[in-house]
Amino acid sequence: MVIDISDKVIVVTGASRGIGKEIAVNLSKENASVIMTYNSHEEEAKEIFRGICNYNGKCMLIKCDVTNVDEVKSLYNNIIKKYNKIDVLINNAGICDDNRVQMMSLEQWKKVIEVNLTGCFICSRIISKNMILNKSGKILNVASIKGIEGCVGQSNYAASKAGVIGLTKSFAKEMGRFNVAVNAVCPGFIVTDLNRDNEKKRKIAQSRSVLDYTNSLKDVTNFALFYASDFLLGASGQIFVLDSRIQN
Ligand code: NAP
Repeated sequence: MVIDISDKVIVVTGASRGIGKEIAVNLSKENASVIMTYNSHEEEAKEIFRGICNYNGKCMLIKCDVTNVDEVKSLYNNIIKKYNKIDVLINNAGICDDNRVQMMSLEQWKKVIEVNLTGCFICSRIISKNMILNKSGKILNVASIKGIEGCVGQSNYAASKAGVIGLTKSFAKEMGRFNVAVNAVCPGFIVTDLNRDNEKKRKIAQSRSVLDYTNSLKDVTNFALFYASDFLLGASGQIFVLDSRIQN
């Protein structure tokens, strides 16, 4: 099976680190035109971009805070100017800021909802305009298994990801008539900067898995590759869980 995404224009938000970085690098290796965005880690993002440019000259790097409507509009305009189309949007940018509800400040709550959920909404709304015009496109929202299960100390994060799941299902219903698919992927525990120090959570996740397997960045990037390709058609409004936990 040869997956060919060389004709695809793919936007990956939050590609300066972690999952977004891996997705951007791997889709670029497959010769796609990848637009990688970053928010605060400019140097890291530039280094990744320079690395990609060594083997793929079709990529772009753009600073874009997903909560800032003007920056997302500018991202959109820059992409359209260069490529005149967007095939795939991967809403990956996300943060966490943990605390139990009684200890969580309103600011902590709002910040996580703003980036994870409102950011996903803003990017989806603006970037899908071109997909509607072209009557073609795919959006992949990076949610989380915590949006399904909840998690102690992460009510803001879990609520944001549950919101992303609701947004995914609703937007899929609106976009079907334009031939645009909207789906979400829910990775389980994957070591990145988001959770690197949380060995306890990793052990809990591992102990609940039915497979003797620790999920890795590679699993998410492989899924993104499959998703971006024409091998996955006819799925929309779906929540793909990349994990082996089974609910009791
Ligand atoms: P990470 O290593 O902390 O990277 C987060 C990325 O999001 C960075 O590139 C960051 O950009 C970007 N970002 C943060 N705030 C932003 C904003 N306001 N605007 C634009 N970009 C912003 O996190 P990760 O583990 O790779 O997580 C990526 C996604 O996967 C998140 O949505 C997360 O919820 C989800 N996820 C992760 C796991 C896991 O186990 N790691 C599991 C399930 C789901 P800058 O650094 O440039 O600011």
